[in-house]
Amino acid sequence: MIQSILDLIEKHQRFFISTHIRPDGDALGSELALAHFLRKLGKDVAVINSDPPPMNLDWLPGADMVHVFDGSLGQRERIDGADVLFILDTNAIDRLGKLAAPVRSSRGIKALIDHHTHPEIWFDVTYERETASSTGELIYELIAAYDPGMIDTEIASALYAAIVTDTGSFRYSSVTPALHRVVADILERGDLSPASIHIAVYDTRTTESLRLLGRVLESITLRFNGEVAYVVVTPRMLRETGASSEDTEGFVNYALSIEGVRVAIMFLETENGTKMSFRSKADAYVNMWARAFGGGGHKNASGAYLRVPLEEAIDQVMAAAPRFLEIEPEESGRVDLSDEDASYLSSLMELKSQEK
Ligand code: 5GP
Ligand code: MN
Repeated sequence: MIQSILDLIEKHQRFFISTHIRPDGDALGSELALAHFLRKLGKDVAVINSDPPPMNLDWLPGADMVHVFDGSLGQRERIDGADVLFILDTNAIDRLGKLAAPVRSSRGIKALIDHHTHPEIWFDVTYERETASSTGELIYELIAAYDPGMIDTEIASALYAAIVTDTGSFRYSSVTPALHRVVADILERGDLSPASIHIAVYDTRTTESLRLLGRVLESITLRFNGEVAYVVVTPRMLRETGASSEDTEGFVNYALSIEGVRVAIMFLETENGTKMSFRSKADAYVNMWARAFGGGGHKNASGAYLRVPLEEAIDQVMAAAPRFLEIEPEESGRVDLSDEDASYLSSLMELKSQEK
């Protein structure tokens, strides 16, 4: 699979790179690492996203080469005229936001590099592995397969930022000894200082965001005998603390850190609906739970968006919990399994027993 991506790179000249809406560290770091690599090979590269980079990562070398899609003719021509379109860190067309239509209609070869489950089928070439810690890890493998000597400080910084953010600073179940070896190689080749990157990525919070955290922590609610915890963020909380919805990044992990909690969910109320962030510990799968509401993600970190108000979103998601977790339904919110759900649940159990 890696060779087919390298073949594309060798054979072609004009490349387009994009990623999901509201790009995170893995999305942006992977794009920048790949873009630096392609430029070092003398290729013509355009990086265009639906949304701007997150503020805590705009210091990454090359972040200024990332453009936000504005619908202009010039950008449309770059997309349509690309020989190869790399889509990173998402495998779903509707996660491309405003870029979905121009990407789909481009004549170029569509190549996916990603670590999410359930890839859509419109890609011509793919390099993906669900068990990879991050898309950044896959980009590292790609560059290392070509020539690890090409990993300089710029590429290393981008790869390190991708991996550190998508592994929650090396603590998720996707972290392996092999990944630590990869990271050691990245640090050495880039001559990086992990401490200063950590400060730049994580120690840049605003006072407003911590005041918001205080409010959000007060909202912690435990359900299903303490196995499910959720927190809520309302527009009023944002208004009263002066924080923005971007400041809620990572809040859901506080709920997950409670002893006995297997799944934590953050419900963020917006103008048109409610955004959910699901996180889970080890053997609790949340990606299918999120998919049931039109979203998706990884087994321990997923998301979805419902076009309903906060309370209704909470009710719907909680009512579905027994279908996706091995827990007893709560007395008040009893739901009976449909045949389809029962067969899904048994296939999930089978999958889990195979993993053990
Ligand atoms: P977060 O909760 O940080 O927004 O997202 C966690 C994970 O879930 C991310 O890896 C992302 O890929 C996935 N995710 C979040 N929202 C959505 C969504 O609306 N649709 C899909 N397919 N995946 C999502
Ligand atoms: Mn990722």
